[in-house]
Amino acid sequence: MKKILLGLSDDELKLIAAEAGEKGYRGKQVADLVYRHGCKEVAAMSNLPAKFRSWLGQDYEVGRSQIVKTRRGKDMTFKVLLSPAFGDLIESVGMAYEDRFSCCVSTQVGCAIGCSFCATGAGGFKRNLAAGEIIDQVLTVGEVAVREKMLPPDGRVSHVVFMGMGEPLMNYDATLTAVKLLNSELNIGMRNITVSTIGYVPGIYRLAAEHLQLTLAISLHASEDALRRRLVPGMSRYSLKDLIEAGRHYFKETGRRVTFEYCLLMGVNDSQSEVARLAALLKGINCHVNLIPLNPVEGKNYKPPRADQAAEFRRVLEAADIPVTQREQRGAGIEAACGQLRRMQRQ
Ligand code: SAH
Ligand code: SF4
Repeated sequence: MKKILLGLSDDELKLIAAEAGEKGYRGKQVADLVYRHGCKEVAAMSNLPAKFRSWLGQDYEVGRSQIVKTRRGKDMTFKVLLSPAFGDLIESVGMAYEDRFSCCVSTQVGCAIGCSFCATGAGGFKRNLAAGEIIDQVLTVGEVAVREKMLPPDGRVSHVVFMGMGEPLMNYDATLTAVKLLNSELNIGMRNITVSTIGYVPGIYRLAAEHLQLTLAISLHASEDALRRRLVPGMSRYSLKDLIEAGRHYFKETGRRVTFEYCLLMGVNDSQSEVARLAALLKGINCHVNLIPLNPVEGKNYKPPRADQAAEFRRVLEAADIPVTQREQRGAGIEAACGQLRRMQRQ
């Protein structure tokens, strides 16, 4: 098995060049090729000396995935189903806005947490992705966006959200390496990177200690523990109190306002009493709530909330001075919620 270049830093690539008896700047040249020029194979690195190229090609490959399927939505959104390695399928999403282009990446093949409304969770966990496999998704989504004319030829992905398949903080090292490389090699601002966690508390404390300027989003989905345990069975060890305390700590350490995500499920977690409790839980915390209307998953009994119910939910939070945004139902037509396209492929 060859080693993978994507996921290595400038310094690591310089060391590899040194190992081959080349000057350090050759390592930087490799970084330019794989991260900034979309080079997909060592054999295509024609500006490297032939000797170094063939040395490199013996042990290393770039590490790009295969595109299995691309689905375009009508609202400047697309989803790609990628195969990072034989037999593995993951999903990534591209979203064009007026002022930015955002890419949603997966961090694991499948997910072990098994949230009851999520398509990824339904398929179980297969493996962690490597940092290079996370970076590959951003490069691929950028290339597809140019091909689909959602980005100009010199355009680039400006924002990355870790909200695809898998739990980023349970694949901590690869997630952190990917975040740092997105920043240093792809020039994506730390503040334009969001990591979403289902609430793996030790991971939140560890991330807080890195003192990065990225945005942390914590998925809550309930305002009392019994319901949360039902919706998120794989994280029952941690109470809502633990999660909110971890969010407070993250803000204290980084100065970054935490986002709490709440996926609205009709008749399950969208009631008056639920939102009143949520408002009480979050009162006085420097946070922001992102309401996500459910994207229904086939074979599961959950339904999205009625528009008036979602509006009322929002109103109660705002009345308690909690800033709220509501995720647009972008990409519903392309099975854009996490894990849905892969699930279809399996059927
Ligand atoms: N594992 C992490 C990150 C990936 S999921 C987490 O759970 O936070 C990213 C977001 O997508 C989560 O907030 C999750 O609740 C939401 N999500 C999952 N399935 C969904 C669905 N069917 N419809 C709408 N949102 C969904
Ligand atoms: Fe995993 Fe997040 Fe889906 Fe839950 S919502 S199963 S944590 S990917």
